[in-house]
Amino acid sequence: MLVDSFGRTATDLRVSLTDRCNLRCTYCMPPEGLDWLPKPELLTADEIIRLVRIGVERLGITEVRFTGGEPLLRRELVEIVTASAALNPRPQLSVTTNGIGLARLAGPLADAGLDRVNVSLDTLDRDTFVRLSHRDRLSDVLAGLAAADAAGLRPVKVNAVLMRGVNEDEAVPLLRYCLDQGYELRFIEQMPLDAQHGWQRENMITADEILGALKGAFDLTEDDPRERGSAPAELFLVDGGPRRVGVIGSVTRPFCGACDRVRITADGQVRNCLFATEESDLRTALRAGASDDDLVERWRAAVRGKKAGHGIDDPTFLQPSRPMSAIGG
Ligand code: SAM
Ligand code: SF4
Repeated sequence: MLVDSFGRTATDLRVSLTDRCNLRCTYCMPPEGLDWLPKPELLTADEIIRLVRIGVERLGITEVRFTGGEPLLRRELVEIVTASAALNPRPQLSVTTNGIGLARLAGPLADAGLDRVNVSLDTLDRDTFVRLSHRDRLSDVLAGLAAADAAGLRPVKVNAVLMRGVNEDEAVPLLRYCLDQGYELRFIEQMPLDAQHGWQRENMITADEILGALKGAFDLTEDDPRERGSAPAELFLVDGGPRRVGVIGSVTRPFCGACDRVRITADGQVRNCLFATEESDLRTALRAGASDDDLVERWRAAVRGKKAGHGIDDPTFLQPSRPMSAIGG
């Protein structure tokens, strides 16, 4: 198992398939994009499949989430999902995506064994979408969501980040839309992970603010906390349930004590935390012919050193040098 020095066990693996993206969400990337990783530095599909297999067969990983950058841009995605679904024990498989291209890929991904998707949707207004992501692609995202639902990738989960002066008034319309469509919405507090290092606490819409806005329009009651487990979202029943909404207060209500995640970046570095300032290089070892046993040991050591918390509130907090898109959100 992947156990850290505080006794937490990582069972949820996030694998970044690429650092590239076809949107430029302001909380993540500058409008001009970033210097993408050179292709030789990216793990190949076979290398990714090998690490997923080691994680699942040797290290107790039970859930694998493919992310990025935009994972749907990775041509071998269906192949990687197919191979992951064939593992024994079979992990839960999901993708976090901006939804562009999902209209075409939802069916093939479901056939390959994908269980679920998380689709990011921060606004229902076309102009706001363009302002927020610098691309006019709202209709593609909505079509992607509908296709995921039709393909049975349920529950379709929606991630939304609210930003002051941009989409802060959209908590209620977003929830209404998701309830109507049968999607499960989660609001995520904006974290200091943008490439521009422009995050400011006072501009962050807090979990309390989001809940305040929602309570003006809906009756929210806390869902059974046992349902939450190590999941970061606090879940609320909407108007008596069974429909729910989640709020992820990553900054103001940190859940580090229950964290069960570990990440592999697109260039094969293990990160034991989104906010880690150190990484452990598995790619070099992989390419130097390391055995499975050797990779298991390196991976275990990387998780052992995980810190107690993200420390955003510490005066000494340093934003990681890699932005969210390169870490794998
Ligand atoms: N491109 C895909 C997408 O947007 O869903 C997957 C990668 S993206 C980095 C994963 C998630 O991280 C998205 O839901 C996005 O909204 C969220 N995200 C990105 N930057 C963030 C930030 N600074 N704070 C909070 N969430 C962020
Ligand atoms: Fe791309 Fe996702 Fe970052 Fe938006 S949040 S720029 S969709 S990687």
